[in-house]
Amino acid sequence: MPDFVIPQPPVPAIPVSGGGSFPVRRVYCIGRNYAAHAVEMGHDPNRESPFFFQKNPDNLDSSGSFPYPPHSSDVHHEVELVVALKSGGTNIPVADALSHVWGYAVSLDMTRRDLQNEAKKLGRPWEIAKSFERSGPVGPLRPASEVGHPDHGRIELKVNGAVKQEGDLNQMIWKVPEMIAYLSEYFELKAGDVIMSGTPSGVGPVKRGDEMVASIEGLGSLTVTVV
Ligand code: MN
Repeated sequence: MPDFVIPQPPVPAIPVSGGGSFPVRRVYCIGRNYAAHAVEMGHDPNRESPFFFQKNPDNLDSSGSFPYPPHSSDVHHEVELVVALKSGGTNIPVADALSHVWGYAVSLDMTRRDLQNEAKKLGRPWEIAKSFERSGPVGPLRPASEVGHPDHGRIELKVNGAVKQEGDLNQMIWKVPEMIAYLSEYFELKAGDVIMSGTPSGVGPVKRGDEMVASIEGLGSLTVTVV
């Protein structure tokens, strides 16, 4: 046991359906990975190089509530498939990539859109818009040994019962194995790394009291109340 000079912070983790929890090392998030969402954000939907940003591991939250963050009046929902890695490496071939996946979950990449738009305009980084407290609500992780490796199926978000986002996992511009391979060229991936794989179109604002229900075919749903 290292001789820590302050108490060790808790290890960020995602609960696993059926028991146990998955410790999180890093959280990589891809931007504009569904063509219709790229278009709604004012960008070219053609396949250009992917780009990634990161959330903090302890931004992931499984409490079922999302505290509306300060300094924003335009906080948006983005429903996303989470990919959790049990191993990693560098320069992972696309053909081997899925062998590193432990499981999958439903998540929300909550975004202070007004601060993100300002950051984009000023050429500043996105952390203030993306990596704030509890900005990554996440449902229970489902092992690939049970659910396989979903590459198609409905992905949806409802707010107060109304469908706001809908798409299909097969609309991803960069597929899960390609994201793993690409990231591994730039970073050393390791067990505990998590990838948030982008959102379909229909992103929009939430307000306190809203109930968000995110779902992905085969993975179940995640209900989060904005408080
Ligand atoms: Mn996102």
